[in-house]
Amino acid sequence: MASATAIVIGGGVIGLSTAYHLARRRFGRVTVLEKAVLGDGSSSRAAGIVTGHLWTETGVLARKRSLALFEELSDELRAHGYTFNQVGCLNLFGAESWPEREALLPIYERHGVPFEVMDAAAIAERWPALRPDPEQIGLFDPVGGYSEPHAYLPALAARARELGVEIVEGCQVTGFVQREGRIRGVETRTAGTEELREADVVICTVHAWTLKLLERLGRAVPLKSFVHQRYLTRPLPEPLELPAINANPQGGYVRPAHSPAGQPCLLAGFETADRAEFRVPSPEFDLSELAAPPGLRQTLTDRLSTLLPQLATSDWASESVGLISFSVDGEPILGALGDLPGLYLGCGFHSGGFAYNPVAGELLAEIVSEGAPSIELSAFSPERFEASALKDYLAKNLIQADAVRRRH
Ligand SMILES: Cc1cc2nc3c(=O)[nH]c(=O)nc-3n(C[C@H](O)[C@H](O)[C@H](O)COP(=O)(O)OP(=O)(O)OC[C@H]3O[C@@H](n4cnc5c(N)ncnc54)[C@H](O)[C@@H]3O)c2cc1C
Repeated sequence: MASATAIVIGGGVIGLSTAYHLARRRFGRVTVLEKAVLGDGSSSRAAGIVTGHLWTETGVLARKRSLALFEELSDELRAHGYTFNQVGCLNLFGAESWPEREALLPIYERHGVPFEVMDAAAIAERWPALRPDPEQIGLFDPVGGYSEPHAYLPALAARARELGVEIVEGCQVTGFVQREGRIRGVETRTAGTEELREADVVICTVHAWTLKLLERLGRAVPLKSFVHQRYLTRPLPEPLELPAINANPQGGYVRPAHSPAGQPCLLAGFETADRAEFRVPSPEFDLSELAAPPGLRQTLTDRLSTLLPQLATSDWASESVGLISFSVDGEPILGALGDLPGLYLGCGFHSGGFAYNPVAGELLAEIVSEGAPSIELSAFSPERFEASALKDYLAKNLIQADAVRRRH
């Protein structure tokens, strides 16, 4: 395949990871086209939390591989300033939501995914800063943790470049080149100049912009986007010993972090269940146009300080606002668009696209270069949707609570 050409549209973590894995396979000439700057989408705004405790067999296998890859990348990208923070991930449940999760433990056992079930007293003993309600249950993932997007994105881009990937910023894909029933490349606009770029394969990893881009082909996938935000506290007097926490009973998450000046602080976010879906208004749309209502900061404090009392006395210093996207069944959309040879999609990663990115890039690279992924992926196939389900989902106006519930 050394003479093949691939164009990856979108310079977020999914696009960069795909380009990196194609280059590792010596696919040929690999180019990433990004309409703004690398990480300009949700990737730079993410909390970067990852856990292997997912909901489906496919998800569990994929995340297991993602976590192994995060560990490998920690070594490979260290020289570029990235390490995976393997502090573990504590997934918290209330008494009513625990049975549903407990039913998944046999899948974790079957696939060698480590976990530890903890009651509230054991949680408070291990992490004294935490005060879970007595009936809450923790499912601790010892190999989970988090990545700092501001370290990961440039490091992965630098490594991809070392492997020969060309990354073009300020280059918007405006359409597709089609010939003889195949996608043969893309139409682009760079600083007002239009250009055709030919390619053997085109991989579309444009997250919430996917529907706008697929409109150019008269296609769609059942995808809904919602505004989502996360916050950093002001520096803490002392660092807190904490894992990354998916605090499901509180509807949010919190993890250790560092301020831009390197002082210890906390990063936290929560879902706004009543918020209406967000329809990307134009292909040029930029996430900087989004804003979070100021009142959300107080709600976040009120919700999460019941678990982590330190938050009641810490102010929020900054916020990042982006989009998360959900498919109709809540699972990612990853693979070939069967009736349009040459075109591949990777989108719909709910609030877990950062966690999925290493394996998503690897699977897309396997499909593109070897024709088949190493994990059976029918549950993620772009072809799995009935035409009527697609139409119905797109026609509805949802609030976030109506979308399938998924966190990281
Ligand atoms: C506040 C927040 C917190 C989050 N926390 C977590 C977390 O803790 N863990 C986790 O796993 N996930 C988290 N997520 C989700 C995660 O950020 C996303 O799932 C992930 O970043 C998606 O990556 P991506 O590369 O698909 O998208 P993006 O990073 O959005 O990249 C898509 C890129 O495509 C570009 N683009 C669009 N159209 C075109 C075009 N026509 N031509 C060229 N380029 C184009 C955009 O400019 C953009 O840079 C969070 C999201 C938000 C908003």
